[in-house]
Amino acid sequence: MKIVFEILTKIFPSRNKKSGEEVVAVNDFSFTIPDGKLIGLLGPSGCGKSTTLYMISGLQKPTGGKIFFGDDDVTELTTEKRGVGLVFQNYALYPHMTVKQNILFPLQNLRGADKLPKKEMLERAHYVAKLVQIDELMERKPSELSGGQQQRVAIARALVKMPRVLLLDEPLSNLDARLRLQTREEIRRIQRETGITTIFVTHDQEEAMSISDMIVVMKLGVVQQIGKPQDVYDDPTNLFVAKFLGTPPVNVFNGTVKDGKLYIGEDAVLDVKGVSDQDVYVGIRPEGFIVDENGPFHCNLRSVEVMGRDVSVVSDNPAMQSAVIRSIVDADNKIDATAQTISYTLKPHKVFVFNKETEERIYFEV
Ligand code: ATP
Repeated sequence: MKIVFEILTKIFPSRNKKSGEEVVAVNDFSFTIPDGKLIGLLGPSGCGKSTTLYMISGLQKPTGGKIFFGDDDVTELTTEKRGVGLVFQNYALYPHMTVKQNILFPLQNLRGADKLPKKEMLERAHYVAKLVQIDELMERKPSELSGGQQQRVAIARALVKMPRVLLLDEPLSNLDARLRLQTREEIRRIQRETGITTIFVTHDQEEAMSISDMIVVMKLGVVQQIGKPQDVYDDPTNLFVAKFLGTPPVNVFNGTVKDGKLYIGEDAVLDVKGVSDQDVYVGIRPEGFIVDENGPFHCNLRSVEVMGRDVSVVSDNPAMQSAVIRSIVDADNKIDATAQTISYTLKPHKVFVFNKETEERIYFEV
């Protein structure tokens, strides 16, 4: 099921009538989510991710714009009529019911023509329980399950009505690190097996990058960039997106462009043909540094941390914006950890230049 947003906007009125400040939670969001894909809605707290999800689900009504499921305009439809499955962070299972009863609950609530024969309800419940691999636990109560198992029950309950769209709101936040990894792979597998268009809200960029077919990065209600996770990482449209994606994060410096050369401090670190003379921000991905004693970029060496295949080099420079510079280089590099300084050559496609005022990307010829 393809989903189309047409200039979707949500404005919350001010709570304080005097100040009159309304909150634009989502602003002019237009986008088509292709059929059968897993989309990660990503951004810091308050950027409008949940509001977008609630508008798709029908729990909140847009202030402006339209939502289509396929060719159907669902903007005015209730949640029940839309055919969406919803999974929340806190699972929201009924504690007094068994796993089986929890999964059956949405089917038992169907009325009229939608009502299914009991046999079919049970078959469906077993099918989804098997899909999320909890079919052995059907007679247990939620309190007798781990967090990961409870989340699987919540997903099974959302799938049992065979929704057209599956919506997941921070589904992994309550799980510990190991379970988070495992459950996110499970979500990917379940989504692939069912082929249901799925939208997944998270503030965790690594989570979104690892399982999404496409990510939507939001900031203050405004979509910043949409694309395949690797493409957005490799080619961020502005400084916010560059900083939001990547662990360790992009290294940011104050820089200057003069006569087609990019300077950080006194060092002419890269040729940036086609960029006019100006002050800029420079973002360098941690993997963009090549240790080179004759390299043009000079930094003060702080520490060298060997991590097996790679080495993490911590250094600093007066022009840096972040607390330290973290570069990741191959362990074959023999670095003298007692040296005071370290020099680098930069990989041009790992260096991003941004306008100092707008923080938009400035492209240069590599
Ligand atoms: P989080 O990750 O913290 O859940 P989010 O990205 O999901 O954040 P939203 O919950 O969509 O963000 O909120 C977006 C903005 O809208 C925020 O500024 C929030 O305070 C505001 N907002 C959300 N719901 C309401 C509401 N019912 N009334 C007024 N303002 C609201």
